[in-house]
Amino acid sequence: MTATQKVMIVTGGSRGIGAAISRSAAAQGYSVCINYHNRKSEADDLVAEIVKKGGRAIAHKADVSDFEQVESLFHKVETELGPVTVLVNNAGVTGKICRFDDVDPQIMNRVIGINTMGALYCSQAAVKRMSTRHGGDGGSIITVSSIAARLGSPGEYVWYAASKAAVDAMTIGLAKEVGGEGIRVNSVAPGIIDTEIHASGGEPERVDRIAPMIPKGRAGTAQEIANAVMWLSSDGASYCNGSILDCSGGR
Ligand code: NAP
Repeated sequence: MTATQKVMIVTGGSRGIGAAISRSAAAQGYSVCINYHNRKSEADDLVAEIVKKGGRAIAHKADVSDFEQVESLFHKVETELGPVTVLVNNAGVTGKICRFDDVDPQIMNRVIGINTMGALYCSQAAVKRMSTRHGGDGGSIITVSSIAARLGSPGEYVWYAASKAAVDAMTIGLAKEVGGEGIRVNSVAPGIIDTEIHASGGEPERVDRIAPMIPKGRAGTAQEIANAVMWLSSDGASYCNGSILDCSGGR
């Protein structure tokens, strides 16, 4: 596979972990589609940064919880960059931290819609294009899950943990279903990573509160998660299929 034939979609690629993945992918020769939902300027700035360094990138607004918008995203990428070889399901939200009995049903619906349905819609769109069963050349699907799936996040966001456990189940099942059709399906499960997601959840200092409980003694960086995603997407991980790779400092 030549560098120009590598095409990656990063959902929620505009900032945080997704931006680090987009930068790394572009540096490794991928043409990258940076999907975003609200923050157009961040996505456009990242495209400009990548292009200035000689890379190839486009930005595309799509709400991954909307099936039609996901189809438009894939159509745009195929038209402008070529066949997708790697999908990174990264877009995610938590909702505000609270006890389960206090959470608004609409928040739970939104979190499941983006984190779970978004990953399912995007993965289905990718399989329909990558699978040798459908005339594709194969590829790789990597989902950014969370160790919340096994910790359960009591008192913080049980619904978010549930949304991530669901995508882990997707990774395991889909890997078995399409492993013989040229597609590898894996997840990376981050622990506490220093991004804006904690402020969005209502506790900007969450990283500082939890860092002492992490065996490594610190939060992770977005780049450390990007490194794991890029490895799983590489030929170096050619026998990894259905894996859920913890990247959590040992927590
Ligand atoms: P972040 O900094 O809050 O960024 C979230 C990204 O998701 C943004 O690019 C945002 O786009 C995008 N997004 C939100 N809703 C979307 C939608 N409906 N459709 C498309 N894109 C949407 O979060 P992060 O910390 O980088 O998290 C990235 C992933 O890692 C998430 O799946 C998260 O659950 C997971 N994770 C994070 C941590 C952590 O500690 N940070 C730990 C475990 C797992 P806009 O910029 O347009 O809003």
